[in-house]
Amino acid sequence: MKLLTKKEKLEIHKLLLELYPHRRCALEYSTPFELLVASRLSAQCTDVRVNIVTEELFKKYRTPQDFASLTVEELEPMIRSCGLGNTKARDIIAASKKVIELGGIPDTMDGMLSIPGIGRKIANLLLGEIFEQPGVVIVDTHCIRLANRMGFVSEKDPKKIETELRKVIPANESLDFCHAIVFHGRQVCSARNPDCENCPLSGLCKKYL
Ligand code: SF4
Repeated sequence: MKLLTKKEKLEIHKLLLELYPHRRCALEYSTPFELLVASRLSAQCTDVRVNIVTEELFKKYRTPQDFASLTVEELEPMIRSCGLGNTKARDIIAASKKVIELGGIPDTMDGMLSIPGIGRKIANLLLGEIFEQPGVVIVDTHCIRLANRMGFVSEKDPKKIETELRKVIPANESLDFCHAIVFHGRQVCSARNPDCENCPLSGLCKKYL
């Protein structure tokens, strides 16, 4: 498939920001550490389900110290409905201990990646949401699907997609772009049923053309 030109990519980027002015992170949180926990829970789970679970969870446990005091056996039942309960419980407890050891959530990619259970997707999200760092690119399942369909990339490797998108999306708008692409993936360009006929991006999208 032919890829979009840089001009076309920027046009789609602009359109996406116009289409979704109320774009935001769909995970509910009130502290940076809560976002870290919610992000880890969101792997292979819907944000809606994570928000239901964390609404109860964060009433009792909120800080790294709270979570570090738990055992996997204590935490797992509370997060089981998000799936991968044992793995996520183990990671969240280990991440809590690491954040305590570091004296807080680090503000660099390398620092983020030193935390158990945190990969590039969550690290970019946290760097953008918490530290408002420019140039973050969150490559989740929606981003992989839409970036390929629209013709930003012909590539499934998240790190390569991140690099390609960073080359073209303005750094100060890349977090907004990622949130908007998730909204578009949920509302119009779903995995099974993309509504191309009614898609405002169809004039540019390479899948539709
Ligand atoms: S035209 Fe179709 S494939 Fe392209 S972004 Fe819109 S819904 Fe997705």
